[in-house]
Amino acid sequence: MSLVERDLAVIWHPYTQMQTAQPPVPIVRGEGACLYSEDGTKYIDAVSSWWVNIHGHAHPYIAQKVSEQLYQLEHAIFAGFTHERAVQLAERLLAILPSNQKKAFYTDDGSTAVEAAIKMCLQYWHNKGEQRTKILAFNNAYHGDTFGAMSVSGRSVFTAAFDSLLFEVEFIDLPNAENMESLKSKVSSLKSELSCFIFEPLVQGSAGMIMYDAKYLNELMAHCRAEGILLIDDEVFTGFGRTGKNFACEYVDVQPDIMCFSKGITGGTMALGLTTCTQQIYDAFLSADKMKTLFHGHSYTANPVACAAALASMDLFVHPDTQQNIDRIAEKHTAFAESIKAHPKIKSTRQTGTILAMEWETGSSTSYLSGLRDTLYHYFLNKGIIMRPLGNIIYILPPYCITNAELDYIYQSIGQALDEI
Ligand SMILES: *Cc1c(COP(=O)(O)O)cnc(C)c1O
Repeated sequence: MSLVERDLAVIWHPYTQMQTAQPPVPIVRGEGACLYSEDGTKYIDAVSSWWVNIHGHAHPYIAQKVSEQLYQLEHAIFAGFTHERAVQLAERLLAILPSNQKKAFYTDDGSTAVEAAIKMCLQYWHNKGEQRTKILAFNNAYHGDTFGAMSVSGRSVFTAAFDSLLFEVEFIDLPNAENMESLKSKVSSLKSELSCFIFEPLVQGSAGMIMYDAKYLNELMAHCRAEGILLIDDEVFTGFGRTGKNFACEYVDVQPDIMCFSKGITGGTMALGLTTCTQQIYDAFLSADKMKTLFHGHSYTANPVACAAALASMDLFVHPDTQQNIDRIAEKHTAFAESIKAHPKIKSTRQTGTILAMEWETGSSTSYLSGLRDTLYHYFLNKGIIMRPLGNIIYILPPYCITNAELDYIYQSIGQALDEI
């Protein structure tokens, strides 16, 4: 049996309608910005394998460090014990985060990083004896697929089957010049109930790479801070250079109370999540009373191999070449967007750093389930490019090592698609 036949016999794929999906592409190896299938076809990974890969596939330096770690220590319980890699990663990450971030709490992935963040906020108020149990979030937000993370995400096709079971959240629109005052008064009217405000900074990824202005985010954050509402900055997608700076929060002045990381943290090598917080949050859990403990943890918390991958990725990330590559991609995206924005099939283009999104004209409204999505997906796949359109929105967010020739090939293929589809 072929790999694909064996897959179809035993595997249920994520975000996939198994009845109508085409058979999966069997990938056997990766190198640089590309993945290679069994029959030798090369695919340019224009979406960094669901936004996780930042330095390229099977990077030899990360592979070396992971391999060394495996012979030293593969895992150790993280309650009552510690190890070098977890401490080192926390030290190095906190050193490049906003100066108020003081403690690192390890989780497994983006969703659990968000779960831990929400629980920190809710229990922060509980430990202080205040009844603040509501959460503020943006319409169309995406913070993950576990129940807490789903609850603080916008109600959508993703959550429809579970909506009645999700806890209540106050949703507001993204801020702009026109609605700023009404958003602020809504926040003020709810302030005594609101424990925290969770947001994706600058870019709502899953919603369709929806972008908004740092200036208005800053103003909203400042207002929440003034009203005593804790700020959770979900950098699971935007962290580690995606938006042009190390972290999207570097575009705003107000420092968040809590930050969530995953996706790029290990360079896309292994699953790892991390939630950081201020001294103030941490201190609210210190007590002789054991009931004030944060009772949260995962079996693989701070897995040393995942931490070693993250440390190796960090070595590559802080190298000047990486920032140069990020700037190079951003510049090329800008020039390409400029060249196609007048095309009648392009409704709009938008860009933040290495993320370029293009909204396809459909004649009707935008939807995640748009039929155009499948047409576009297969068009690019046949050209050896991995894109996962969000409805009629196509986007490129490549590993930073992608070559100019590879980028040009993607741009050229988009140009062809505009003429042919
Ligand atoms: C992907 C994502 C998550 C969830 O991360 P997983 O690792 O897929 O659980 C959370 N928040 C944001 C902003 C994301 O883009």
